[in-house]
Amino acid sequence: MDKISRRKFIGKCVAYNTTVILGTGWFLSCTKDSNGAIINSELEYLPIQHDNPAIALWREKCEECGDCIEACAEKQKVFGTYHASAGKHVCIHCGTCILACEESALTEKYDWQDVLNAIDDPSAIVIASISPSVRVGIGDYFGMQPGSFILENLVGACRAVGFDFVLDTNFSADLTIMEEAGELQKRIQENNNLPQFTSCCPAWVKYVEIYYPSMLPYLSTAKSPVSMQGSMVKSYFAQKKGIDPGRIVHVAITPCSAKKFEITREDLTVDGSQVTDYVITTNELAMLLKQRNIGLFDQTGNFDSLMGEASGAGIIFGNTGGVTRAALRTAYYNVTGTNPPANLLDLQQVQGLSGIKEAQVTIGTTVLKIAVCYEMRNARRLLEQVKNGSCKYHFIEVMACKGGCVGGAGQPAGSSKIQKRISALNNSDATASIRYCHENQEIKAIYNDFIGEVGGPAAKKYLHTVYNDKSNLLTK
Ligand code: SF4
Ligand code: SF4
Ligand code: SF4
Repeated sequence: MDKISRRKFIGKCVAYNTTVILGTGWFLSCTKDSNGAIINSELEYLPIQHDNPAIALWREKCEECGDCIEACAEKQKVFGTYHASAGKHVCIHCGTCILACEESALTEKYDWQDVLNAIDDPSAIVIASISPSVRVGIGDYFGMQPGSFILENLVGACRAVGFDFVLDTNFSADLTIMEEAGELQKRIQENNNLPQFTSCCPAWVKYVEIYYPSMLPYLSTAKSPVSMQGSMVKSYFAQKKGIDPGRIVHVAITPCSAKKFEITREDLTVDGSQVTDYVITTNELAMLLKQRNIGLFDQTGNFDSLMGEASGAGIIFGNTGGVTRAALRTAYYNVTGTNPPANLLDLQQVQGLSGIKEAQVTIGTTVLKIAVCYEMRNARRLLEQVKNGSCKYHFIEVMACKGGCVGGAGQPAGSSKIQKRISALNNSDATASIRYCHENQEIKAIYNDFIGEVGGPAAKKYLHTVYNDKSNLLTK
């Protein structure tokens, strides 16, 4: 449990209490060299504001080394791109600064205590949904080798702590692919709004809304797996199980700080209600288990039915290139009526830790050109190509974190662990009994019983969203 004690998680966060980092009229500026790198800044640490829903600054631990500023500016191209003249720091909630901070002065904003309170409330039905990357991160806190794949024990531990139901967010990764593959097919047929960008990373979505609002029509309208999961838990699952949705507290357990922001987005509510009540990270789950003195290996368990079955395609959502590989499997099936050959299943060209990868595949009579990237410094290069008309791709996957969600800020820190986690999820996909979301029996059931057709009216209501121009956050 070394990492837990290193991250001080019981105490007072300055961002919640006395210290308001920015005052009205505060002005952010910096000097850059000819390559755009920051060479002089007025600040030694990132000005995380008290109302940031995802990131907390523990000021008393900050050594003012500036590593967080460098990470935010260089990898994500946020800090140094604007003047915060209204006292507002621009943030996409990616958490890259958290991973850069060796003093643990930056962390995700902790919600695990609120989740325990909900669990202790006898009137609440508390439902956990577990993202793919959590199962290859949580073991680090319990003496396992980095990249250890732990599932039955993880589900068992969640039941032991008191969650009433434990569901698999991979189910909604499968759902996302059903919708996103259908959307891609339609855009290609109509030759409209290509390339299609993925939309499952909320940090990336917010980046486009702030910096490239003219590119919003290119974003897939499909909600992220966590967002779809919340929509389905409080509608389909509640209906089938005979539960009053008003009693449900839905908790997404994720590798991601940005999901804490995503669940607050008004455009992701259903009938005006927030569909996921809390996001806690892999780190917070370890804290929560420790607080209740529950060992990861004390019990085993299986996901609950209705939203507990997932294909290998859903599992690899945690990896860079995984969403692309998953989408192509179902797009291929939709077009040809058969499942794809092995080389398209694995699509080695989009795997690995290069910042931008590309591939070309033939589906039916269409030659699809694909790009996969992570971090906004790489995404910007592709966005600029779309903007200036030189983009040759039909489909572009973007994730904010290095290696994809397996490298999220809510995971135990350590860049060297990312490849091990990627391999573990790939191995789980390779050995899965079902590797295509269109073969997932629970996915078939939800379309038969609740959603109807891909892209149809119910899908639009529950599974798709709209985006908004947020460029007014920039004051240049
Ligand atoms: S990286 Fe951490 S210690 Fe360094 S300036 Fe940023 S918050 Fe402070
Ligand atoms: S969360 Fe991301 S955008 Fe926000 S301050 Fe940290 S690195 Fe910058
Ligand atoms: S890549 Fe994944 S973990 Fe990272 S910000 Fe995006 S959704 Fe969250």
